[in-house]
Amino acid sequence: VRDLVKTFPGRRRRGRATPPVRAVDGIGFDLAAGRTLGLVGESGCGKSTTGRMIVRLLEPTEGTVAFAGQDISHLPARRLGPLRRDAQMVFQDPNSSLNPRRTVARTVADPLLAQGETAGRARARAAELLDLVGLLPEHLDRYPHEFSGGQAQRIGIARALATRPRLIVADEPVSALDVSVQAQIINLFERLRSELGLAYVFVAHDLSVVKRVCDRVAVMYLGRIVEIGDRARVYGDPAHPYTRALLSAVPVPDPAAERARERIVLRGDPPSPAAPPPGCPFHPRCHKAQDVCRVERPELTGPPSRQVACHFPESD
Ligand code: SF4
Ligand code: MG
Repeated sequence: VRDLVKTFPGRRRRGRATPPVRAVDGIGFDLAAGRTLGLVGESGCGKSTTGRMIVRLLEPTEGTVAFAGQDISHLPARRLGPLRRDAQMVFQDPNSSLNPRRTVARTVADPLLAQGETAGRARARAAELLDLVGLLPEHLDRYPHEFSGGQAQRIGIARALATRPRLIVADEPVSALDVSVQAQIINLFERLRSELGLAYVFVAHDLSVVKRVCDRVAVMYLGRIVEIGDRARVYGDPAHPYTRALLSAVPVPDPAAERARERIVLRGDPPSPAAPPPGCPFHPRCHKAQDVCRVERPELTGPPSRQVACHFPESD
């Protein structure tokens, strides 16, 4: 992913025009086969829009996404077939992403039928896929409302795996689930990755969710990556004040560590991406902001193990 930008046009509402929104503002990263990138930030930071551009559910405004060496950023719809097989998406709300009138067999087999597979073979493959995600053959002929949220997400995952993809973009796949079920679904993603050699872009609003699954993590704020690096670096020694604030919100199981934990409270909500602040976009909420931060935008710099966009990065 290089210099990726997505701008949504402004709208007219009750005679007033809203300005265009630069939802994703020039981000880039690499993801190797079989690896996982965690993409984290508050709602509206552009993480879902980025995920949708990677699988070409959205066309980028600028910049490129290359998949296995091919630039897919502006391919016409009729040439997206191979990408549709190789890159799939798992959505946040399993219930609303499944068609209530379709049996599980139909839902899971649909991508195969669309590719011309026979009904019999598609059903056999659907049964295999249910087994792979921890469901049973008798679930094939049931409807989505007969399942719990966790089971419904397993169906969504089975459907995403039908075409044997190499990349899955998972857009907050556990946010809509009970906390008790979240760990099970994360475990499932982990197991599938090691069994099938999948690469993931794992989108979450909470750093704790992706900690177990990611090799690298990128923290986004107002359409840009503010810190990106290897998991151990970003979690063990966060450098951007925003990353530190997000991490300080994550409780630690050990009571002594919990007492010693640094707590940084984020002031207010993120500003609108339609009117980003000048200079460092985080400055209105940053407890370390200096004059330079209000005028000069920091660029992402540093070695590949960890890059940060801050004039005064912290590091232990
Ligand atoms: Fe805070 Fe300044 Fe760093 Fe922005 S550049 S995160 S305002 S210290
Ligand atoms: Mg989102």
